[in-house]
Amino acid sequence: MKTLLCSATLVLVVSSLSLGRAAPAADAPFVKLRAVPFTAVQITDAFWAPRRETNRIASIPVNLENLEKAGNLENFRLAARRATNGFIGPVFMDSDVYKALEAASYSLATHPDPALDQRLDAIIALLAAAQQPDGYLDTYYIVKEPGRRWTNLRDNHELYCAGHMFEAAAAHFQATGKRNFLNVATKYADYIDSVFGPPPKRMGYPGHPEIELALVKLWRVTGERRYFDLARFFVENRGTKFFAEEHHTPLDRYDGTYWQDDLPICDQRNIKGHAVRATYLLSGVVDVMSETRDPRLIAMVNRVWRNTTEKNMYVTGGIGPSASNEGFTTDYDLPNLTAYQETCASVALSLWNLRLALLYGDARYADIFERSLYNGVLAGVSQDGTRFFYVNPLASTGRHHRSEWFGCACCPPNVARTLASLGGYAYAVADDSLYVNLYIQGAAKTTVAGQPVNLKVATDYPWSGQVTLRPEPAAPAKFDLRLRVPGWCEGAAVSVNGTTVTAPRREHGYFVLSREWRSGDAVELDLPMPVRRVTANPQVKDDRGCVALQRGPIVYCLEACDNPAPLSTLYLPLDADLMAEKQPALLDGVVVVKGRAEVAPEQDWQRKLYQSAPPVRRAPVQAIPYYAWDNRQPGAMQVWLPTAPPTPIVGGLETQAKVQLSFTSGNCQPQAINDGREPTGSRQHPGALCHFWPHKGGAEWAQYTWKRPVTVCGAKVYWFDDTGSGECRLPDSWQVQYLDGSDWKPVAAEGAYPVELDRWCEVKFAPVTTTALRLALHLKPDWSVGIHEWKVVESDDD
Ligand SMILES: [Zn+2]
Repeated sequence: MKTLLCSATLVLVVSSLSLGRAAPAADAPFVKLRAVPFTAVQITDAFWAPRRETNRIASIPVNLENLEKAGNLENFRLAARRATNGFIGPVFMDSDVYKALEAASYSLATHPDPALDQRLDAIIALLAAAQQPDGYLDTYYIVKEPGRRWTNLRDNHELYCAGHMFEAAAAHFQATGKRNFLNVATKYADYIDSVFGPPPKRMGYPGHPEIELALVKLWRVTGERRYFDLARFFVENRGTKFFAEEHHTPLDRYDGTYWQDDLPICDQRNIKGHAVRATYLLSGVVDVMSETRDPRLIAMVNRVWRNTTEKNMYVTGGIGPSASNEGFTTDYDLPNLTAYQETCASVALSLWNLRLALLYGDARYADIFERSLYNGVLAGVSQDGTRFFYVNPLASTGRHHRSEWFGCACCPPNVARTLASLGGYAYAVADDSLYVNLYIQGAAKTTVAGQPVNLKVATDYPWSGQVTLRPEPAAPAKFDLRLRVPGWCEGAAVSVNGTTVTAPRREHGYFVLSREWRSGDAVELDLPMPVRRVTANPQVKDDRGCVALQRGPIVYCLEACDNPAPLSTLYLPLDADLMAEKQPALLDGVVVVKGRAEVAPEQDWQRKLYQSAPPVRRAPVQAIPYYAWDNRQPGAMQVWLPTAPPTPIVGGLETQAKVQLSFTSGNCQPQAINDGREPTGSRQHPGALCHFWPHKGGAEWAQYTWKRPVTVCGAKVYWFDDTGSGECRLPDSWQVQYLDGSDWKPVAAEGAYPVELDRWCEVKFAPVTTTALRLALHLKPDWSVGIHEWKVVESDDD
């Protein structure tokens, strides 16, 4: 969500895993399934039901409390009393209130709660009081910049906030039947519709898409076709470089990629820019094309979907590797340690794929939805429902943890609304078909082939692939029961009333069971769930020679607290046995994966050129579901595991030294300075980086300390520089100092200290014997410094 970013440090995504299924051709027929609404679905399983209860009693109240504390609700009070100062927070503060209201509304539908109902009504009354007479409602402009509405569509999120209001109002109306929120929303939508559109109305579209899909929801709830037409206007005009005009940017200097505004929408060829914006936009595009059937739009969505899922998606179903644009970089760029994978981006990818699943009736899209849901989305919230991830790396050195809240608080309510509305994603119907997309114990009430049907489901999914489904039509009825066979599953089997269906009909990834159903019928679906080793397309550099563990839809990771050997030393040979084990007491009950890994040998090469290879050492390992990490003692985490010993670190004495810095920020990784990773250039972002940002100018130091005296005669430094994206530059000067007793003294250098980009800057000096060395730095005024690597040269003197 953020548009501002810090310097240096953050960077970061999937693999074209065997996702397996190709996209339909542009002329594939639309099936247009109707989702069975969340209000008609019961969830009673051991996996989701407790999480949804935690969402209801912990996350939703925590969201509402934090919106009070952070000032989001206060902004509405200011707007209601027509204040013109005191606005708190970033421009998109309103949107987080709407998402929390949406989550709370879904929750009310499945769990009546008079106190929550009243609380929502009070907030809705506040919204109505803040709304301007003409229908406008954005507290930032009402309070802070009155008279300047619609002057910066690119950056100031008015249409984005409006979209979240419309989604929330639609949910509230569906959940409660009350129109109080819907009236506020339609009044605002009518006003926006009076402003934007073909001449004589004005041009424009949102810098952050969202309103497109929301207007379609509002149309479906109210039947007001103008809302659809406005969504269509926003979609079809995107890419006409309106933001260049709005900001007076010469076209030859305008790069609209970040906002998906570089090419006309139908001409876009790949996923690009800010990940959440891109996928909210594509969700709206699917809504529009499902009505207009514009073949160019359809072809665009299909090819961008391929580009996303075949080249730009993490194994955990998340997207957007890079912190610098909260989005996409180049195909196959899926780093693990620095994976950004914003929680909202996993939600947005789910929403896009859900729409495609309903439009095409094709399981490949529900596969992606499931992958995101059980992994990338679910990781966004802690086990107790009170802490949240914004950034979801696939590896951690132990310093990445969930937070209670964020200045930019888009992610927590996004997870809350997804969990609260989960039932609405599991089932869908066409005229004579009932589709099951997610396997969740409970029941769904719907009408198929003109007959009311109550479908009962019993299963321990995702831990078990055994699913019992009992379709109970009011009277015997002929229809197709279509059961998704997940893309990860091999050897699926199905039986009806105890008789195995031989060679069951399969269409678009579903088993199709066609018969006259009657009460008492029972379908047994068997989806085998062995532990799978997943490999990534070798073009994903960071995953080469590695496997990820997956069982059913769940992607696993190793966490330090389960594994005594440092994770960085472990590797998992391809023939190592792995077994799944249910552990009811662990992390609210999970299936863990256990096996025996091998431990890379640690060898001391001090003053040695050759030595015997060490014996293989094995260590038990235990992997837990990725979504569940960081709920116990803090420590390292890793999804991708090497299958062979890692290449030994090329390094000397520095690898044995303890690192200290004069200053470390939260995202500085001091250990990166002596990790032996050879830089390929100063501009290369290594993932883990040692730097002094945001300190700028003045003096800083880095220090190596050894347990025993060492004799050294040289040092080499490779500087980091992120000109163009951050604030690290070459230092003004540097010097090596050694510890003599309690004094730091400069070494006797043979010549000048070089300061250059893209190479090792080396200095030789008269040998010193010491227990500590310092790199004393002078930073350029207004610039910080980052260090890829610092090596020391051991002297041959005794
Ligand atoms: Zn977010």
